[in-house]
Amino acid sequence: MVPLGEQYWSGPLTLSGQTVRIGKGAIADLKEGIGNMETRCCLFCSAPLRRTFVDLGMHPLCESYVSEDKLNQMEPFYPLHVFVCEQCFLVQLHEYVSPAEIFTEYAYFSSYADSWVQHAKRYTEMIIERLNLTAKSFVVELASNDGYLLQHFVAKGIPVLGIEPAANVAEAARKKNVPTLVKFFGRQTASEMITESGRADLVLGNNVLAQVPDINDFVAGIKVLLAPHGVVTIEFPHLMKLMEANQFDTIYHEHFFYFSLMSAERIFAAHGLTLFDVEELPTHGGSLRIYGHHAEDKTHSVTERYRELVQREKAAGVERPDTYATFAEKVRETKRNLLEFLIEAKRKGKTIVGYGAPGKGNTLLNYCGVRVDFIDYTVDRNTYKQGKFLPGTHIPIFPPEQIKTTKPDYVLILPWNIKGEIMEQMGYIRDWGGQFVVPIPEVRVYS
Ligand SMILES: [Zn+2]
Repeated sequence: MVPLGEQYWSGPLTLSGQTVRIGKGAIADLKEGIGNMETRCCLFCSAPLRRTFVDLGMHPLCESYVSEDKLNQMEPFYPLHVFVCEQCFLVQLHEYVSPAEIFTEYAYFSSYADSWVQHAKRYTEMIIERLNLTAKSFVVELASNDGYLLQHFVAKGIPVLGIEPAANVAEAARKKNVPTLVKFFGRQTASEMITESGRADLVLGNNVLAQVPDINDFVAGIKVLLAPHGVVTIEFPHLMKLMEANQFDTIYHEHFFYFSLMSAERIFAAHGLTLFDVEELPTHGGSLRIYGHHAEDKTHSVTERYRELVQREKAAGVERPDTYATFAEKVRETKRNLLEFLIEAKRKGKTIVGYGAPGKGNTLLNYCGVRVDFIDYTVDRNTYKQGKFLPGTHIPIFPPEQIKTTKPDYVLILPWNIKGEIMEQMGYIRDWGGQFVVPIPEVRVYS
């Protein structure tokens, strides 16, 4: 994309040693200047960030649920403006909010999603067998949340340690007998840990790599923590799937990065870690699980499926700037379609409620400007969220039983990644002719 200033260039002027432009070019310069008042650089390679991937406007923090007594107070909103680095093709949000603000008290408890706990259990069984983990091994999970995963290692007698920055979530893990350190992970924490408990045979992190703005410090920490023949596995939503399936609602302040396999490979390589395998998973709308080891370690060779995905990403153009140019318009069209559906339903006098209060729902509802004018309320199994209100839109959150009481015509499923599980649990809405609506990748009604 050519900056506006280049298109309307109307001749340079030199003023106190600086070149300035006049006419429309000057206005564009001014806009650029405002944008650059903060240094906007790639969080991995430090190249200046100039190319917009998508700009979703201003949003509150998507996990900052509002309690009733705060409803009439100001709420901080921050930009959700995603860029793609033209140097390393890492898709990223500028760091508008520090992780300390986001994660110290966190509302996301992994154990509330049955399918996610099952996913964790299957992973545990697979990796124990693949790496021959025993009671003599040591497993560390980065951002171990409420112990949803490590509990399965504990059950098999394998020593574990979880690291979790949110004290309230870590407390829930300790109740499951999962030893948990309340800390942010990085080089410093890793050094302290190896003095305390030694290096780890398995370091794992699910949906954490995207959530640490100082990605260089985080991956360097993995290098420090990993035993000489240890393996690291990391899961994150796959950028290719996000683009293909229009999953713009998974963009929120907690997610600083949106990775392709190739961008992840480049980051790990910069810290002396080599990726050797990758799995494509259905979780979170399409994720990757990457496997890495020390660059010096020759235990594992690069798998065929790894090479194949690298080829597929190259063919899809993940390292070509124009690949990222069309996404923003696709997002705007999704907004128009969702609003069209909601307006039509309301004109017909239908009632609509939400299911779930996930982060992604908040991005969607705030971006589309959908409040109680369309959605009467939403429900969530997480008792922490019940009785509170969605950030920004202030839609009230009730326990799921509320749906049985009010018998709405439509239930809009906000965590579309687990729509199957929800439609099964809530199948009874069909008794009164209720229907499910899934907003992503495009609005679809399920009878
Ligand atoms: Zn970069």
